[in-house]
Amino acid sequence: MIEKREFYINGQWVAPATANDMTVIDPATEDACAVISIGDQADTDAAVAAARVAFPAWAATPLEERVALVKKLREIYMARRADMAEAMRAEMGAPIDLAKSGQWGSGTWHLDGFLEALEDFEFEYAMGADRMRKEPIGVCAMITPWNWPMNQVFLKAIPALLVGCTMVLKPSEIAPLSSIVFAEMIDEAGFPAGVFNMVNGDGAGVGSQLSAHPDVDMVSFTGSTRAGIAISKAAADSLKRVSLELGGKGANLIFADADEKAVKRGVIHCMQNSGQSCNAPTRMMVESNRYADAVDQAKATAEATQVGATTESGRHIGPVVSELQFNKIQGLIETGIKEGATLVAGGLGRPEGVNKGFYVRPTVFADVTPDMTIYREEIFGPVLAITPFETEDQAVEMANDTVYGLTNYVQTQDDEKRLRVARQLRSGMVETNGVSRVNGSPFGGYGQSGNGREGGTWGLDEFCEVKSISGVPMG
Ligand code: NAD
Repeated sequence: MIEKREFYINGQWVAPATANDMTVIDPATEDACAVISIGDQADTDAAVAAARVAFPAWAATPLEERVALVKKLREIYMARRADMAEAMRAEMGAPIDLAKSGQWGSGTWHLDGFLEALEDFEFEYAMGADRMRKEPIGVCAMITPWNWPMNQVFLKAIPALLVGCTMVLKPSEIAPLSSIVFAEMIDEAGFPAGVFNMVNGDGAGVGSQLSAHPDVDMVSFTGSTRAGIAISKAAADSLKRVSLELGGKGANLIFADADEKAVKRGVIHCMQNSGQSCNAPTRMMVESNRYADAVDQAKATAEATQVGATTESGRHIGPVVSELQFNKIQGLIETGIKEGATLVAGGLGRPEGVNKGFYVRPTVFADVTPDMTIYREEIFGPVLAITPFETEDQAVEMANDTVYGLTNYVQTQDDEKRLRVARQLRSGMVETNGVSRVNGSPFGGYGQSGNGREGGTWGLDEFCEVKSISGVPMG
């Protein structure tokens, strides 16, 4: 059993102010795999104070030195790939190959994107006779979820470090192990004491203490819309900046002329990471003359999706993260059946032959209508809802009929239609024909999917204040 009770504060591993153990459960076995501590107000205060003291010197450190330390961190992250992958496998149930590739690789990918964006990033530039300056916002609280642990930590910590902010990270209490490894790497890289701090804790404790803290200048949060609302309220009294990356219910519009792999691609994308991605295309909408075919293909793809142990190599999906999530997903599958959707693959219970671990059957519902719960709620499991549409206008209207607006998807070989439809979709991102977004492209949503934009130049801007200075023109 791993024991990691200490927090990383002011460049030291320190014991919590008050002992308060929490066990971390491996979702593949349901066994405890680690013990951590849950912090309290004294731990939060100590971490924020360390970040506050470290801020002026770090903000004034030459950019080249900050970049050099981030590059050193990258080297250590490369060298400790196996440790990091194992931590994510155990804490959130990513199959080991996914942990070593997509989960781990998202870290270097974002880091490289930030370094590239930094090459053209102007911290000071002229606007007429004025001088514009971008300055680090100050002490940042970073509150992260469990589903893509390093993806989220890199999207927040790296730009903040690069622009000169100091920070306190509170990772998900469900998946804290990878962030502990990350803090070890920060320590090994030799960042000055207090620049990066990490306190474990839950949302009600350290999470809300950081959100309300008068000495925190910004909260950068990724997680559920529910918690995003609570954080915004807690942060309101101190009027700090709150950057939110929240849930989603992405529509995947498949027109009759879409390429022949569009349905299969959509199902695989929905099931990836056991359906636990905010940008998953969970509502597949298919033009009516291709609908019956699409349902058959979706059924076949879901049935071909292997579910397997996280320690085994392969492209299978693993369990969902926790008993709570497992039960929530089961409840939503049951609701889908009760509300009259047609279950075409998967369904209730664990996959055949599995009696332990939070494994969910890859599930597909057809004939889902906009009034159904599974059309509206983020399920966060390997569950796809398929709905037919008749016209382009109807497809757009259905896609936009949601409180969320993170990523939508469009599949058609008609270039004009693809752009026309993409322009009408109310979401921060639209991916078309299976083409991935480029590195540095901003990640974020409309509406209840949040207000932040992470990655690349936009991600650097998130952690900056803007100052205009008159009377001292640029040379
Ligand atoms: P969650 O909101 O339950 O928890 C996320 C983090 O917030 C955890 O660290 C938790 O301790 C903390 N937290 C919870 N309540 C809090 C409160 N009242 N005050 C302060 N902190 C609080 O989310 P989760 O279950 O860990 O993650 C899944 C959610 O994250 C999904 O809704 C998913 O869509 C979303 N997500 C969004 C993005 C994005 O970029 N838009 C990316 C990944 C995940």
